[in-house]
Amino acid sequence: MTAIEVRGLHKSYGGRKAVDGISFDVGEGEIFGILGPNGAGKTTTVECVAGLRRPDEGRVRVFGHDPVRERAEVTRVLGVQLQESELQAKLTVGEALDLYASFYERPADRRELAGRLGLLPHLGTRFGKLSGGRKQRLLIALALIGGPRVVVLDELTTGLDPRARREAGSLVEDIRAGGVTVLLVTHFMEEAQRLCDRIAVIDGGRVAALDTPAGLIGRASAAKEISFAADTPLDPEALRALPGTVSVTVADGRTVVAGTDGTVNAFVSLLARRGVTARRLRVTDATLDDASLDLTGTALR
Ligand code: ATP
Repeated sequence: MTAIEVRGLHKSYGGRKAVDGISFDVGEGEIFGILGPNGAGKTTTVECVAGLRRPDEGRVRVFGHDPVRERAEVTRVLGVQLQESELQAKLTVGEALDLYASFYERPADRRELAGRLGLLPHLGTRFGKLSGGRKQRLLIALALIGGPRVVVLDELTTGLDPRARREAGSLVEDIRAGGVTVLLVTHFMEEAQRLCDRIAVIDGGRVAALDTPAGLIGRASAAKEISFAADTPLDPEALRALPGTVSVTVADGRTVVAGTDGTVNAFVSLLARRGVTARRLRVTDATLDDASLDLTGTALR
């Protein structure tokens, strides 16, 4: 079943297009990533999905409901954690959970949710005193308190240290394991590559590519990178002539050849033919970072 449907979405701010014809579907149970450079239109898109902004044009449905016209139905099935959300600094974790639970007819069990998110020991702690990681956990708990079928998480891990980021990542996996569909907006390639079933790369208000992480990586112009130091120098021209070679760079005695699987095979044959021994030889796969750079021309860091 389709959890989220977005068709031909347009949104401008004062005549300036922020979203310029975005379409995608998110299947029930998916972790769907939205990735893209700053200002690409990611937040505007998810705000339209959550009913927080009215699209200028296009169709948005959340489990068949229009987020603007059927706000109550959408609120029942969708939880949202927005970028840099803040709560009253004096509100305790327990009070925030109670307050948000009061918005719903059938809220989730607060103690069970707090336990699942490691917040039980902190129920009496004020929001302003929580660490960044615990603040994020509380915001996730508040997004989940209505027992949603789909949750929107925008820049969940921005500002967290690597450990808290990993923990937030495994929380996303737990949420999905609990049967909730996840729409995840992120800047972090590693996180997107590891967590998402499919990713829409957004650039300039449009979908530049939509695929699985492996599918996107496969679109990078150089799927493989060979790096080595040779006992006898190899002529860069011979390397450039290998099938599929995209670039050859030589620096500090190390040569780096970017190319395809075919380049790797031809490179090995070339070494054998020339009787050259490659030292510290490494062959690495392209990453989502490389693919995004190719797709958007911007490093997403
Ligand atoms: P970031 O990664 O920086 O959060 P984003 O991909 O989420 O960016 P949006 O926040 O959707 O992008 O912004 C898209 C464009 O719309 C940007 O140029 C932004 O400056 C502009 N914009 C966003 N919100 C508003 C607003 N309320 N009023 C005017 N312009 C806005």
